[in-house]
Amino acid sequence: MSDRLPDLIDPLMLAERRAVLAGAINIAALSRLSESVAENSGVVNVDVLFSKQGKSAVVSGNITASLNLECQNCLQPLEWPIALSFKLAVVSSLQEADKLDIDAEPLLFNGEKLSFNQIIEDEILLVLPDFPRHEHDCISRRSSQDADYDQNHTEAKAANPFSVLAKLKKTGE
Ligand SMILES: [Zn+2]
Repeated sequence: MSDRLPDLIDPLMLAERRAVLAGAINIAALSRLSESVAENSGVVNVDVLFSKQGKSAVVSGNITASLNLECQNCLQPLEWPIALSFKLAVVSSLQEADKLDIDAEPLLFNGEKLSFNQIIEDEILLVLPDFPRHEHDCISRRSSQDADYDQNHTEAKAANPFSVLAKLKKTGE
């Protein structure tokens, strides 16, 4: 089985054939995503089905990846797993997109072939956080290592349990 995926696609033709495009895309081949990650050596795995729903051609699929980001708090590497599903309906105009009666995001297609990579990249960029951060309180954990030497950090440390509690309370709701 080949992992090689086409870049330029005709979604209408693929929908008629109920085609499946599954495999891996090098992150390095996705230029905008490459700019957003600290390390672009990995791949994203995709499993995409082209089908018809009513009169609409639908592109639905799953994307999984483990991205290497940089934590915006401590500037250390941050592994960021991605597992997302998407569903797009092919439309030929914005008017058609407005009238879409199925639960899918519009995918504008004017007859020119679309970049499959770009569709995948768009979906990933939608879920990437603007300010990725470690889930734990990474800054104070780092600064607490210095706390023995610097009493000023006790104040910052004292604030932590509260923020942890606030977080717990939020998720418990
Ligand atoms: Zn961090």
